[in-house]
Amino acid sequence: MNTTHEVFNQPEPLVDVNLFDGNRPMQDALKFNAPALVTTHLSALGQQVGSAEMQQHARLANVFTPQLKSHSRFGHRIDQVEFHPSYHALMTAATASGLHGTPFSDAEQASGTAHVNRAAAFMLFTELEPSILCPISMTYAVTPALKDNPAIYADWAPQLTSRAYDPALRLWKDKPGVTMGMGMTEKQGGSDVRANTTQAVPDGSDAWGPRFTVTGHKWFFSAPMCDAFLILAQTPSGLSCLFLPRVLPDGSLNQLFIQRLKDKLGNKANASAEVEFAGATAWLVGEEGRGVPQILAMGTMTRLDCALGTSALMRHALSLALNHTSQRSAFGKKLIEQPLMQNVLADLALESEAATALALRLARSFDRAATDEHERVMQRLLTPVAKFWICKRGSHFAQEAMECLGGNGYVEEGGEGIMARIYREMPVNSIWEGAGNIMALDLLRALRKADAAAALAHELAPAKGMHPALDQLAASLPTRVELMATEIEARRLAQDVALAVQAALLAQTAPPAVFAAFCDSRLDGHWGHSFGSLGAGTDFATIIARAQPR
Ligand SMILES: Cc1cc2nc3c(=O)[nH]c(=O)nc-3n(C[C@H](O)[C@H](O)[C@H](O)COP(=O)(O)OP(=O)(O)OC[C@H]3O[C@@H](n4cnc5c(N)ncnc54)[C@H](O)[C@@H]3O)c2cc1C
Repeated sequence: MNTTHEVFNQPEPLVDVNLFDGNRPMQDALKFNAPALVTTHLSALGQQVGSAEMQQHARLANVFTPQLKSHSRFGHRIDQVEFHPSYHALMTAATASGLHGTPFSDAEQASGTAHVNRAAAFMLFTELEPSILCPISMTYAVTPALKDNPAIYADWAPQLTSRAYDPALRLWKDKPGVTMGMGMTEKQGGSDVRANTTQAVPDGSDAWGPRFTVTGHKWFFSAPMCDAFLILAQTPSGLSCLFLPRVLPDGSLNQLFIQRLKDKLGNKANASAEVEFAGATAWLVGEEGRGVPQILAMGTMTRLDCALGTSALMRHALSLALNHTSQRSAFGKKLIEQPLMQNVLADLALESEAATALALRLARSFDRAATDEHERVMQRLLTPVAKFWICKRGSHFAQEAMECLGGNGYVEEGGEGIMARIYREMPVNSIWEGAGNIMALDLLRALRKADAAAALAHELAPAKGMHPALDQLAASLPTRVELMATEIEARRLAQDVALAVQAALLAQTAPPAVFAAFCDSRLDGHWGHSFGSLGAGTDFATIIARAQPR
């Protein structure tokens, strides 16, 4: 009860909206990347994840964060993590939507659009809650690497691809579904995993192939309640990729001990642990001594998810900003009618749409790389490009979207309680799975390969002649790569490749107003260093109307 004043000019929250039906940029990007895809199920998912009920689960899973239960009350080590029921409700929904290993099921593979389809669903779910998607993403990503131990893959594939979620710590064959994680980072080095000291000593062989006893640690080990992990450890032949289940085939617990959970800036609903292996049992995956390229098959897919995830967080932050400014008034007008606010919102809308276009374009390459040479090269090039640039833009984007909500945006319960969560979540996609510099250096290596320049030119060709600044940038890229003697400008190069590809995609998927404003600002030098710096000739109304979430 307010006895002192009337409450007014506070917006209605953005709840019970269909996140797919309201997302024009995503729909257009899907038509471009997977024209045959029927999207009815995405609309149903958009309704589910936009519902007040699911938003309540997301809130609770972030308020009541995971707790480590290292011992039972009788002093036995149990190494379990306890989650709020809402965490499990979200995991159940994500798994039922096929966001983890399902795209690798035979039925999904036959569709030819499994990865684009899953990418769109993953983005919609991210708008609901991104941090629980960490184990979902790792379970999605593990298959290409795990297949190189065919015996383990044959045993685990049914549970990896099923749409069932079972959080119990028990033997994989007694569960309807499983999740998997990855352990690379150690205290002394994460980017340079060659510094790993964890030792794996040969211990014979069985139906799953060469077996090892593992002793050492991992400094970051997310989702430790997963059923199994791919880890890196030093065998006599060098750094190797190993499969380490939490419960061994005889039903006993593996020697994996959770030391503590990280107290993180964001990503609160997800548990990230420090662990030790004290004689744990693990099996070789791939070739001994070739662990880094082996586990990178998994890393490549999680990098796709970083780009998809950040694009979705941008979209969510933009929707909240549009929702707020459409309802709140200041100085006699709705905020959205104030010219300078229009500039900020339109600029954010361009960034969000460009991120969506690039992330879904990258997802398409995962559907086609095995059969199409151009797509194979684009997968190699665009993975570091999208991971670098989209994730790098995320935090800046979130700050600006937050500011559109004024003080409410900065308060945990204000801005519908979600904007602060988005802001805290943003940096992680840029750091994990290869931080910004690592991605820029990776792109440089990829661009120096013989087939890269021609493939990039082919990718940009459909937009040739449509904007002079894009033509100029596209023409300059091969020479810049050729002349780049050192890595010192690798970030600038990654940025410019990203902008060129984003512009070329917008030429094909977005209305002319969006394409023109993107090129005029990002490519033509008519842009400042903060959002809200578009030129006066921009078609603000069209850009903002297209971005509206309702
Ligand atoms: C919430 C969270 C969860 C995580 N979960 C997991 C997990 O489940 N499994 C796992 O294995 N890891 C996990 N990580 C670890 C993450 O992948 C690493 O933190 C990341 O790869 C960076 O490694 P590092 O922390 O050792 O930093 P460093 O490798 O020390 O890097 C520090 C900085 O130096 C830069 N840098 C490194 N080398 C170069 C170079 N040659 N030139 C220029 N710059 C360079 C990097 O870009 C980075 O900015 C997680 C991290 C976080 C934050």
